[in-house]
Amino acid sequence: MTLKLLECPSMDVTTILSNLNPAQEEAVTSDKKHLLVLAGAGSGKTRVLVHRIAWKIQVENFSPYSILAVTFTNKAAREMRERIDELLGMPLRGMWVGTFHGLAHRLLKAHWHDAKLPENFQILDSDDQLRLVKRVMRGMDLDEQRWPPKQAQWWINGQKDEGLRSAHIQEGGDPFLTTMLRIYRGYEETCESLGVIDFAELLLRALELWKENPEVLEHYQGRFQHILVDEFQDTNAVQYAWLRILAGTRSAVTAVGDDDQSIYGWRGAKVENILSYERDFPQTHTVKLEQNYRSTSNILTAANGVISKNAERLGKNLWTDSGEGESIALYAAFNEHDEARYIADRLQSWVNDGNRRDDSAILYRSNAQSRVLEAALLQAEIPYRIYGGQRFYERLEIKNALAYLRLMLNCHDDVAFERVVNVPPRGIGDRTLELIRELARGNNTTLWSAASLVVSEKHLTARATNAVTAFLELINDMSGQLEELPLAEQAENAIQFSGLIEMHRREKGERGQARVENLEELISACRAFEAEDRDIPILPQFLDQVALDAGDRQADEDQDAVQLMTLHSAKGLEFPLVLIAGMEENLFPHKMSLDEPGRLEEERRLAYVGITRAMQKLYLTFAESRSIYGSESFNSVSRFVRDIPKEVIEEVRIHNTIARPTSYAASSIQSDQGDNTGFQLGQQVNHKVYGEGVILNFEGNGPRARVHVSFEQVGTKILILASANLAAV
Ligand code: ATP
Ligand code: MG
Repeated sequence: MTLKLLECPSMDVTTILSNLNPAQEEAVTSDKKHLLVLAGAGSGKTRVLVHRIAWKIQVENFSPYSILAVTFTNKAAREMRERIDELLGMPLRGMWVGTFHGLAHRLLKAHWHDAKLPENFQILDSDDQLRLVKRVMRGMDLDEQRWPPKQAQWWINGQKDEGLRSAHIQEGGDPFLTTMLRIYRGYEETCESLGVIDFAELLLRALELWKENPEVLEHYQGRFQHILVDEFQDTNAVQYAWLRILAGTRSAVTAVGDDDQSIYGWRGAKVENILSYERDFPQTHTVKLEQNYRSTSNILTAANGVISKNAERLGKNLWTDSGEGESIALYAAFNEHDEARYIADRLQSWVNDGNRRDDSAILYRSNAQSRVLEAALLQAEIPYRIYGGQRFYERLEIKNALAYLRLMLNCHDDVAFERVVNVPPRGIGDRTLELIRELARGNNTTLWSAASLVVSEKHLTARATNAVTAFLELINDMSGQLEELPLAEQAENAIQFSGLIEMHRREKGERGQARVENLEELISACRAFEAEDRDIPILPQFLDQVALDAGDRQADEDQDAVQLMTLHSAKGLEFPLVLIAGMEENLFPHKMSLDEPGRLEEERRLAYVGITRAMQKLYLTFAESRSIYGSESFNSVSRFVRDIPKEVIEEVRIHNTIARPTSYAASSIQSDQGDNTGFQLGQQVNHKVYGEGVILNFEGNGPRARVHVSFEQVGTKILILASANLAAV
């Protein structure tokens, strides 16, 4: 590296500084210890961060080993690494880049003993966490109706995000607080005894690791001379404390962010950290970036129109010298199906015009909106990918398979035990399980140990004993072979011998088929997995990676596909084409935010984030009537649309695009009439097996005439009309 610098220093400097404006260059090369870049969307904050790292390494000769970079998602971390490699012309080694959670995990793995964790501690994802909270509550005989476990989970995570353990919280007379505190305490104890930690715990535990082990802290403080943080506006209290303590008095900190894009307040993020920063890191050099390089001026005008209505702002100007570009298209849909079809239609044209699907994104406020959009995309045969939705590793069959792998690694993993002890069904009923749980509680042991005890002490009927014994033997047999086998074969064994794959093979219909395929895909994933550290067995490394990825809001990318994601997950990303669906009051802004000015401002920032993702073309759509969360509602167009200056909006006229159900025949989309079928497009129908759904399309005539129905439970199905026996609802 040094050699290269000596040979051709000027070229390296030119590469790093090329395509930076003066303000960006000032930020990249600043020799002030602390730097704060506070700037609007698309102004090059992330770019500055990447170039500053390259600058430190290439020009100022810092070792990559001395740099720590924090990003918001694992995907962003991977991209950052690639971009730095590209700038430097060689792969980087030794630099730590990751999310707060990923970095905390890495620390805890390295210092598990000091962190008072077992060496092979497991990460609980949100689902596992909820199951554990429920278990704790059952042990306390709390009524789930009165005390919803999800609420308790939320509360606990909120405390941890603030850095509070149950012992830190004062017990008042308030029955709500008292109960939550009891659950929190029980949950802490259970996690402790199981050796598992949830996502919020990763951060809190890493913070405590440093507070309680000065020599460990000292080591990292000496190591990391530069700490750089992207999306700083969304750090929460624990993350900020972590950062401050790590930086100590020695490290130089660069933070980049945008107060207008703070959208995780509901999860404990504190935009005030931006203000505290200048106080906590003395003599900070603050740089403002004002030129936007991402979007057309029409898109920027729309974004500025929306965000300028917020009162709580630090205030920034954002301008662009790119042209006006196209108008922002606004489409008033008849209902959510019409909206989805319009969107699919626009995407089809985008692709027909020679564009990549990867370059387009559909954004929405609520995850529940994706189902109908997916149905329309499926019908139009447009490949899509969902970020942050039901991703591969969150699917039921995959989680079951992983639970077997976890048990093979550590039979005392109670969460995994609970999950699969009777999956596939092997005759271990609720009563047997309850007995095992009770015994575990009473003896303060794991479920595995309790199950062994139940067997040896003959607490059960012969049949139940046999069932439990079979399960224990199965796990024992499988883990016995662990050492010799490659990862893919370990996974294959788990799936085969557990009976999981057979169970789904016997399941009827497409769902079972998809599950079998997913399980097979897991084996491929294992085959492709490369261990980061060759000295540790591969299975725990794989399981940790999976757990971390599940906490990420991104999916991986291979195929050219339209991206679907919530507005929250879109942060930091950019796409030439963006379509935002559901621009309606009560949906966006979300109805929960309407009574709280603070929450409403956060919704507005979310709208700003959404709009500023678009580079060339932006579509906004809303539906006059919408069935969502199981009921139908009629909402007016979102106030955020009304805040966009009229001159940049073009209202799409119905007859240009998709017709309303009454005149679908005139639509530009090919769709055979269902005239003599007795059904209409958009009509709500009932099917004996699939339940309720909506007619999306008719195809063909006569006895082979088909109908496409988007079912609430099972997605879109194509059925033969004559035999489908649909009933009008
Ligand atoms: P966000 O707030 O959304 O995270 P950001 O401020 O991090 O945005 P970047 O993603 O770094 O912005 O940059 C936005 C786009 O502008 C990127 O495509 C980037 O490559 C481009 N860009 C930034 N600065 C320049 C420049 N000086 N010249 C050309 N392109 C630039
Ligand atoms: Mg960015």
